[in-house]
Amino acid sequence: MKRFFIVASMAMLCLFNADAQKKIPHTVRTSNNAFARRTEIIIPQLKGYNVYKGDFHIHTSYSDGNVTPASRVTEAWYDGLDIIAITDHYESQKGLKNTMKVLAQLNKDGKPTVIPSTSKTGKVWADFNEIHRQAEAQVEKSGVPLLLIKGCEMARNAQSHGHFNCLFLKDINGLYNKDMAEAFRNVKKQGGIIIHNHPAWRRKTSDKTEFHKQVYGEGLIDGVEVVNGTSFYPHIVRRCIDEKLTMFANTDEHGLTAYRFGRTDYFRTMTLVMAKELTEKAVKDAILKRRTIAYSGGNLIGEEMWLNELLNESVVCHIVKEDAKAGKRTYLLTNMSSFTYKLRRGKTIYELEPFKSLQVNFGKDKNSGKYVLPKFTVDNMWIIDYKHPALEINIDK
Ligand SMILES: [Zn+2]
Ligand SMILES: [Zn+2]
Repeated sequence: MKRFFIVASMAMLCLFNADAQKKIPHTVRTSNNAFARRTEIIIPQLKGYNVYKGDFHIHTSYSDGNVTPASRVTEAWYDGLDIIAITDHYESQKGLKNTMKVLAQLNKDGKPTVIPSTSKTGKVWADFNEIHRQAEAQVEKSGVPLLLIKGCEMARNAQSHGHFNCLFLKDINGLYNKDMAEAFRNVKKQGGIIIHNHPAWRRKTSDKTEFHKQVYGEGLIDGVEVVNGTSFYPHIVRRCIDEKLTMFANTDEHGLTAYRFGRTDYFRTMTLVMAKELTEKAVKDAILKRRTIAYSGGNLIGEEMWLNELLNESVVCHIVKEDAKAGKRTYLLTNMSSFTYKLRRGKTIYELEPFKSLQVNFGKDKNSGKYVLPKFTVDNMWIIDYKHPALEINIDK
């Protein structure tokens, strides 16, 4: 009898367990919140132009980077960008060589296929336009309004020639020439533009070489990187202003942007482009007319006029108190942009963070007897000759 009870209760337990097992789901979501969000970088319109965020220098696994074109598109979108140009080295073919190693086992002798170097033979053995097509396919698939500019990087000896990005291209395959200046002329024939990249890279100076004097002199260069990655070249700001060239700040990213720029208080290095609309035509027009500001690590670099515009459109200023007896006004400054402005007055630095307000007092001018506007040296802005601009903030109505 006792045994019967033991057997019966064990059977009951098994039935109960089987029943309980049935109720346990096979898949459970660990979070209802597991989807990515784009970082929105808010910048007001400047002089009636929209401000688009661009990176015009990025690599993929088709040259010496380690990210696919499709991943570059996704990454840029979530980083808050509007425009990217994938600019792989079309002369080094490292990515192609790696592909051939993977395919080597298909060769009868098991040895990798040897690809003659483009730079030596002048022959192109791969379709470099395919890199851009893959990025385009990803834009279409994901439905994000990211503008893609077709480009490539031409790279020769760092001491004598250096590296140049060619943008707004039609056909990358047809550009090569042993003479780099001739290759530049090929870019121009396609209506492309040329940026001088990282001018002080592997050099002790950012000054021009003989080759630079030749190609700048011929009008083949349209812009220069004042920032590459996190390297800022202060001398280049003067060159851009004196020679009417466009300032760029690009990541030149080979890995993931999150490795270098994955900090909550900074965005990735980028070029702000003031354009009417997000089209290739409007963006090219903005670049040719030098409507850009360079951004890197919280710093803003450019022409004083544009930096003044950016500060004044970002910061809303109201008079909140006026003490006529003391001749003093209290202003409320509200930052309506995603950038922090480091406003210095004497030794005091007011860090005006995004979407925050602060109050400042200003008195009257001793000579005119009139109230003065809030005026600051902006410590995170850089103009010609490695200087900060001193800017006035206008009162908003
Ligand atoms: Zn380079
Ligand atoms: Zn590069």
